[in-house]
Amino acid sequence: MPFVKNGVEKWQKAFEAAGFKNAIIAKMAPSPKEDPEFSPEDARYSVIRWLPSTIENASGPHINDPRTGEILESDIQMYHNIMNLQRSWYFLQAGPLDPRVQKLPMPQDLMGTLVEYVVAHEVGHTLGFQHNMKASSMYPQEKVRDREWVKKMGHTPTLMDYSRFNYVAQPEDKIDVADLVPGIGPYDIWATMWGYKPIPTAKSSDEERVTLDTWAREQDKTPWLRFSTDGSAGSDPGELTEAVGDADAVKSTALGIKNLQRVAKMLVPATTTQKGDPYDDLSELYGRMLGQWTLELNHVAAIVGGFDTQQKHIGQDGVRFVPISKARQAEAVQFLNANAFASPTWQIDKEILRRIEPIGVLNRVRNAQNSVLNNLLSSSRFARVVEQSALDGAAAYQPAEFMADVRKGVFSELDAPSVTVDAYRRNLQRAYLDIANAKLNASPAAMPAGLPASFAAMFISSGDEKAYYRSELRAIDAAAAAALAKTGDAATRVHLEGVRDQIADILDPKSARASSATPGGSRIAFDLMEMFMNSNDACWPDYEIKP
Ligand SMILES: [Zn+2]
Repeated sequence: MPFVKNGVEKWQKAFEAAGFKNAIIAKMAPSPKEDPEFSPEDARYSVIRWLPSTIENASGPHINDPRTGEILESDIQMYHNIMNLQRSWYFLQAGPLDPRVQKLPMPQDLMGTLVEYVVAHEVGHTLGFQHNMKASSMYPQEKVRDREWVKKMGHTPTLMDYSRFNYVAQPEDKIDVADLVPGIGPYDIWATMWGYKPIPTAKSSDEERVTLDTWAREQDKTPWLRFSTDGSAGSDPGELTEAVGDADAVKSTALGIKNLQRVAKMLVPATTTQKGDPYDDLSELYGRMLGQWTLELNHVAAIVGGFDTQQKHIGQDGVRFVPISKARQAEAVQFLNANAFASPTWQIDKEILRRIEPIGVLNRVRNAQNSVLNNLLSSSRFARVVEQSALDGAAAYQPAEFMADVRKGVFSELDAPSVTVDAYRRNLQRAYLDIANAKLNASPAAMPAGLPASFAAMFISSGDEKAYYRSELRAIDAAAAAALAKTGDAATRVHLEGVRDQIADILDPKSARASSATPGGSRIAFDLMEMFMNSNDACWPDYEIKP
C-alpha cells in the first residue's frame, strides 16, 4: 500500500510546478463500517484495483467529457504478475548495477519501488498523458552514464516512455541504485504545466492558444521536452520503445550487451538459492535475457533508412524529417554484423542450458537473430533507403551498399581461404534465404482494413526490392560455389550445397523442389505494435520474442 500511494503522490511534484499544492492524493478505500455506501464503481471515485491474474500488465484508462476534454474519472488496473515482469526486467537490465539483486527473490522494498514506478506511469495516463517514446532520445547518449545528471534528470526525461531501467550505465559509473528506476522527469513537469496551469487572462479555450503555443516553443530550445512526431511511421530511431540512451543506439546497445554478458554469469547463482525448487526461474530468465538482447539490437536496426524527426508547425524553422547520415546507417549495419549475426557465444552456456532443456539453443539463437535480420530487411525500411538515395543522391546510404553490407556480414565465411560455417551461422544463413524467398515469392502484406491513413507509410515497398534480392542471391550462389572448393568440413559442404539448391528454388519457384514461401510481414507487425503503443493506454506489453 505505501508504494501504491507513493506512486500516485509522486505527481504532486509536477503539479506544484503548475501552481497547485496537494493536487493529487491517494487514500485507502473506506471499510464498510466507515462508509457503507462506498463502491469502486461509483463514478465519483478514481480507483486503483489489484487484479488476481497471471497477466503481466497494467492499464490506466480515463473517461473524459468529449465536449471539453475534461477528465471525469479514471480507474487503474494492476494485474498481479506485473510484478513478475518488473522483477525480470530489473534483473536483466539493472542487475549488474544493483547489489540487491545478486540473489532472487529481490527484497520487498525493491519490489515495492518497482510497483511504485508502474503506478506512477499509469497515473500519468489517467491525467491525460500519452506515451512519449521520443523524449528519451533527446538526452545526449553519454548522460545516461553520468551519475550527477541521472540523479537530477533521470536516464529518461519522462515516466511516460517505455525506457524502463538503466541498462546502459556500467558498474564503474556508480549510479545510485535509487536512480536506476525512472521518476517524474523534466518532460512530465513541463507537460503537466502545459496541460493544467491556469491562464487567468484567457476567457475561452481559443484565447488560451497563444499562451499554450508560447509554452510549446520551449520544445525548440530544450529538446527533451519533445513528443513523438506526427506521421513519422516508424522511421525515427529515437521513437523506440524499451530504449535507454537511444540518441545513439550503437553505443548504448554495445554497453547494454556488456551488461547482458554480466547477467549471463549472474543467472545460475541468482536463481539457485532455494534448495528443493525446480529451475523455473533460471529457464524463464534465460529466455527473457535473449529477448532483451534482441530488443536492444533491434534499436540499432532502426537507424537504417531512418530519420531524425521533430514535430513542427508553420512558422517554425526547418523541416520535420532529416535523413540519418550515410555514415551512421553504415555503422549500424557493421555493428549488427559484429554483434547480432556473429554467433553469440556468451549466450551458449552448457551450465545453464543443460539444466533447463535437452534441446533448444540452436532454435533460440536462430529466432533471436532472425528477428533482428527480418527487422533490418523490412520492406518499408528498404523503401526508405531507396527513396533517400533518390532524393539525396550520393550523400545517402545506397541500397546496393546496404544489401551488400548485410550479405557480407551474414555470409562472411564464404570469402575466407578455408571455409567452415558453424551450426548457428548455418541457421542464420538459411534464415536470410527464407526472408529472400518471402520477398520474391510471397504476396506482399496488405494494410489491414480499418487502420488510419497515417499507417499507410508502413506498407510502402519499393519496386526495386525484388531485383536487388535476385542480384544478392546470384552473388551468394557464386560465393557458395567457390566456397565448396575451399572446405574440408562435411557439415559446411552439405550446407553450402543446400544453400545453392535453395537459391535455385527461390529464383525458380515453379521448379519441383520449390518450397513454400514464408510470410514476410514481421517488420510491419513490429512497426504497428510500436505505433499502437504510442497511441493507447495498455501499458506493459510483454515485448519479448519467446524462442
Ligand atoms: Zn503506458
